[in-house]
Amino acid sequence: MTIDERDAEAPTPSATAHDGEPGDDASDQDLGATLLSAASALRFARYQGHERLDAIVPAPYAPPAPAARPAQAPVRQPPPQPADRAPTPPSPPRRPDSVRPTIPRPAPVNAPNLFVDLAAAAPAPHAAFSGPRRPLEEIQAELGPCARCKLHAGRTNIVFGVGNPQARLMFVGEGPGADEDAQGEPFVGRAGELLTRVIGAMGLRRSDVYIANVVKCRPPGNRNPEPDEVAACSPFLAEQVSSVRPEVVVALGKFAAQTLLETELPIGRLRGHFHRAFGHIPLMPTWHPAYLLRTPSAKRDTWEDIQQVMKLLGLARPAKAH
Ligand code: SF4
Repeated sequence: MTIDERDAEAPTPSATAHDGEPGDDASDQDLGATLLSAASALRFARYQGHERLDAIVPAPYAPPAPAARPAQAPVRQPPPQPADRAPTPPSPPRRPDSVRPTIPRPAPVNAPNLFVDLAAAAPAPHAAFSGPRRPLEEIQAELGPCARCKLHAGRTNIVFGVGNPQARLMFVGEGPGADEDAQGEPFVGRAGELLTRVIGAMGLRRSDVYIANVVKCRPPGNRNPEPDEVAACSPFLAEQVSSVRPEVVVALGKFAAQTLLETELPIGRLRGHFHRAFGHIPLMPTWHPAYLLRTPSAKRDTWEDIQQVMKLLGLARPAKAH
């Protein structure tokens, strides 16, 4: 574990459960189990079905190259066949490789080669992202005065999401904190102010991007969302991503990154590299703004991550005002 990873997971008195860097190793293990069981229940599966198909479809067969034989190697004779053995039936003719279907092979999210080579051709978007966009208003109406999980009992407001419904860039956090719960908008407290400054440093405004969370109601005591809560709420996040269809997603903090990527890898290993979410969307994990507030030295990491996002989006760093 790197210093950054350890620091990322060290609790501080000012930490909230929504900074994506929860407490000790035990809670990390709990969170890992939480995420795995939640992930298996998520309807994210339908966005990643081709990955599962990929897991059971073998790669096209390529015969091994014949080994060179020594010049004096003895020639083996086949064993004599008993007279009463049935003859071996002939093999069916093989289809030429040129007409065999090929399956896209995105990297499994827990594999060491998790990081995306963006220079390579992106996988084709899943069908859920190819059809007509479903309006965000329709998704929010379907969510309604939601009581699909126990988080509804303690909330003041559902924090659905905010921003440009056709944003090129989407930020995803963990869940609402006290300020967000009170105002019904994601990232409006001190961490939200820092996120707004990051967006401004990209030459953008909050209204240019779309911001949402994995769960839309505040967990009591700012604890991490539980598996059943993630399973109940995250399909609406998937619907939001499918509606906005951003070119890039930035996952803010450990919880959002691990949930979207269905991995247990720590944020310290995930950040700094592009991954793919929902099968094809480039996703950059980075530190949660709340973590940056108490660990200012990590701002450099986040700025490096954001600069990669800017490069992918073709955004130039705005000139400083004098
Ligand atoms: S967290 Fe999501 S699923 Fe749970 S009650 Fe709130 S809106 Fe509904």
